[in-house]
Amino acid sequence: MEFETVIGLEVHAQMKTKSKIFCGCSTEFGAPPNTHTCPVCLGMPGSLPVLNKQVVESAIKLSLATDSSLNRENIFARKNYFYPDLPKGYQISQFELPIAEHGKLEIDVDGTLKNIGITRIHMEEDAGKLVHDELEPVSYVDLNRTGTPLLEIVSEPDLRSPEEAAAYLKKLHAIVRYLDICDGNMQEGSFRCDANISLRPMGQEALGTRTELKNMNSFKNVQLALEYEIRRQRDVLLDGGKVVQQTLLWNPDKNQTETMRGKEEAHDYRYFPDPDLVPVVVDSQWIDTVRKHLPELPDNRRKRFTDELELSDYDAEILTSSRELADYFEAALGEYSNAKKLANFLGTELLREFSAENIDACPVKPVQLARLMNMIEDNTISGKIAKTVFAEMLESGADPDLIVKEKGLVQMSDAGELQAIIQEIIAANPGQVQQFREGKTKVIGFFVGQLMKRTKGKANPQLANKLFQQELNKQ
Ligand code: ADP
Ligand code: MG
Ligand code: ZN
Repeated sequence: MEFETVIGLEVHAQMKTKSKIFCGCSTEFGAPPNTHTCPVCLGMPGSLPVLNKQVVESAIKLSLATDSSLNRENIFARKNYFYPDLPKGYQISQFELPIAEHGKLEIDVDGTLKNIGITRIHMEEDAGKLVHDELEPVSYVDLNRTGTPLLEIVSEPDLRSPEEAAAYLKKLHAIVRYLDICDGNMQEGSFRCDANISLRPMGQEALGTRTELKNMNSFKNVQLALEYEIRRQRDVLLDGGKVVQQTLLWNPDKNQTETMRGKEEAHDYRYFPDPDLVPVVVDSQWIDTVRKHLPELPDNRRKRFTDELELSDYDAEILTSSRELADYFEAALGEYSNAKKLANFLGTELLREFSAENIDACPVKPVQLARLMNMIEDNTISGKIAKTVFAEMLESGADPDLIVKEKGLVQMSDAGELQAIIQEIIAANPGQVQQFREGKTKVIGFFVGQLMKRTKGKANPQLANKLFQQELNKQ
């Protein structure tokens, strides 16, 4: 029996605001416990929330970037439940009228494009954190995170494989970072995801019973956990059993999912409109202003890279995977004109050392890289030597000219200078000369290799090739 996988993702993205969503406390990560708190985020009776305008603006940006339709009037609701990290006894969220609905996002899996529906985007506050003592049977509560602004982005159950789920997550991650509304730091939990997954017999329309994988904080874990769940649910169904609706946690050490809670413990949140907050009104002037200031988004940038710079889809996809990398690439391109060669060098040499999102930490600045590429172009150094120079630049941050000069790496492009060594090599290898005369012209590679050895890789390879040809044909 064949099954089809159905996945829908709920993503929580923490907004990059200085202060919390309903009070003036700082959102800074890593401060001593309970130092960024006030009566509002501690849920003291009588305190009143005041909405942070920048959170709404961030939500508008994301809505526009995902073709979602904005609800011009949307409301906050109380989601009631008890937990020690939630001092008010309810979370302020949005329920019936979220800020945006019916959006979409385009993913690319191995060159196949597909639109994934976005059900809704809503604003809400984060809860605090429990810190469990490792030795004593004691837990502590840290309320610094309470009231941190989040956008929750809920997808339609349109994803059909773990690969599609990962592509969707990566694209959404790139978009919130291009928009500069979320730092995207997954280790710190600024971008995390709950994945819902079910199987159904191929051809069946009705959705199967799903399980929910909670709070996954790396692309790799999401994919591994989903792959595990597919196998697990498949085994249950093939055994004639029923998948139990439950919430699971991924255990990355054991590589398996574990039950967190079953459906019988599912909450009835008794949502109702928060009487302390007025409806949020988003007028068209506000939307127009935000739209005017939207940065170029990954899809548009990728298209520009393929259309105008004539890069391959593959190169363009990689280069636009983060705004920093795309900026880096374009800055270097300002000083060096061969987009394809630059893309190759970046893709291999630079991305081996730095991730696309961490490119700003690279000590080699775009102009320095451009300078290095120009030195290959004008034959000052060979492409091979350039890699050595680049490794050195990564170490010291020094300019390529300086390194090339200090280490004496300038390419030997003087025919006279090379000629003398070439004649020596030919004289010392009569066997190979004989082979060449017998028509084994590939033996040229051997001669050029010898020359490279003698010149420590500095000989200009094209020139070397030409000179050997001339010399060997003469004899
Ligand atoms: P809840 O409020 O319990 O989280 P929702 O109905 O809002 O549930 O759905 C949450 C997510 O689960 C959405 O992304 C949705 O696409 C996905 N989803 C819903 N039903 C299924 C299913 N049967 N299989 C896979 N994903 C599902
Ligand atoms: Mg859910
Ligand atoms: Zn506060």
